[in-house]
Amino acid sequence: MLDSKLLVYQCQKCGRRTLIPQGYCTNCRARNSFHSLHVPGEGTVFSYTEIHVAEERLKEEVPYIVAVIECEGELRLMARIRREDSEQVAIGATVELVEWKEDTPLFKVSQYS
Ligand SMILES: [Zn+2]
Repeated sequence: MLDSKLLVYQCQKCGRRTLIPQGYCTNCRARNSFHSLHVPGEGTVFSYTEIHVAEERLKEEVPYIVAVIECEGELRLMARIRREDSEQVAIGATVELVEWKEDTPLFKVSQYS
């Protein structure tokens, strides 16, 4: 998998995108219509929160920011924001995928107002 790209699944009938392959489209009800594709790992911050109490594997990382990122094609995903960018996180900020870490995408802030 390319580091800066997101692997997504898109319904060939209605264009709905998801991060998890599905046998059935909940939007247009097509069956087996999902195909995988790589899209640019870019988006904007839809909402975010700061985590102070984390599960065991992320204990060393607190406090950290978890954000809902809105990507092209109405795809929303949950991601962590790079620690050094914590101060720049804002709703509407442009973010870029850095890597997938511990099953969670890690984004950096590329533009903020
Ligand atoms: Zn569909």
